[in-house]
Amino acid sequence: VAKREGGARIRLFRPEMGERVLARQRDKADLRTAVADGQLVLHYQPIVDLATGRATGAETLVRWQRPGHGLLGPGEFIGLAEETGLIVPLGNKVLAGACEQAMRWREQGRALGVTVNVSTRQLSAPAFLPSLDRVLKTSGLPPERLTVEVTESVWADEAAMRGLMDVRETGVRVALDDFGTGYSSLSYLQRYPFDVVKIDKSFTGNLDDAGRTAGVVRCIVDLAEVLGAHTVAEGIETQEQADWLRAAGCDYAQGYLFGRPDLAENWDAQPSVTG
Ligand code: C2E
Ligand code: MG
Ligand code: MG
Ligand code: MG
Repeated sequence: VAKREGGARIRLFRPEMGERVLARQRDKADLRTAVADGQLVLHYQPIVDLATGRATGAETLVRWQRPGHGLLGPGEFIGLAEETGLIVPLGNKVLAGACEQAMRWREQGRALGVTVNVSTRQLSAPAFLPSLDRVLKTSGLPPERLTVEVTESVWADEAAMRGLMDVRETGVRVALDDFGTGYSSLSYLQRYPFDVVKIDKSFTGNLDDAGRTAGVVRCIVDLAEVLGAHTVAEGIETQEQADWLRAAGCDYAQGYLFGRPDLAENWDAQPSVTG
């Protein structure tokens, strides 16, 4: 076995592997440039109040307009950003852009809050809170208009968890993203205050599986209510899903049914969002 492992290790130095290392270095350099030179593009997706059908906020979703590659989704570069630490300056750009956009909406008479996805790595950096404070001051956005979205992975990182609770002290709201797909722990949920629980689209997309998923979603909605948190259902694509969630007591929803993530400029074209 040792010999085989040795063989495997030698194979690490195949020329293709060297190419992969080079490609990664190029990606990293390009991503650094992207953050510095304004190649990051912010899309916003409406978050709709299920009782009224109106948008009350927007989730900020980052894209990279990469020269020669087109518009890349976060799945293609957030991982690299996290591994290289570039997530910190990238995340600050997203935060600043989102807060400025929320202020612009405010000036247009639209009371829309914004949510921003924040990775555990970002939160655990001691500089996060001061930069958040700076962004809020610079933009003038009232903290309660901003929601920070984190995933359950935050519970595995003590520094990030502490950072998160400091964030909440400033009045910024905290949402638990993709709830139910990570390491859900009732004791953590009970111990730490969250303002919003976002029900992952893997649940909302499976509501017709003979009642099992529907039962779980009902429990999540009830649990959130007991804990004093609002619920947002993700990935709503059909009216049936929206109707069912509303009847189940879910507060808000997000999904292609209401609007795809898009540039703020294009929001006027979306009927569900105006007014
Ligand atoms: P997320 O926070 O759970 O965002 C929701 C994802 O679901 C988005 O994908 C959105 O485009 C997609 N989506 C929305 N409605 C529907 C629907 O009706 N059907 C389906 N099938 N999908 C829908 P996106 O934009 O590709 O983002 C993927 C993930 O990347 C996000 O998941 C979030 O975890 C991460 N991300 C996005 N922006 C940022 C950012 O600025 N910073 C960090 N750290 N992560 C980000
Ligand atoms: Mg999110
Ligand atoms: Mg989500
Ligand atoms: Mg998700």
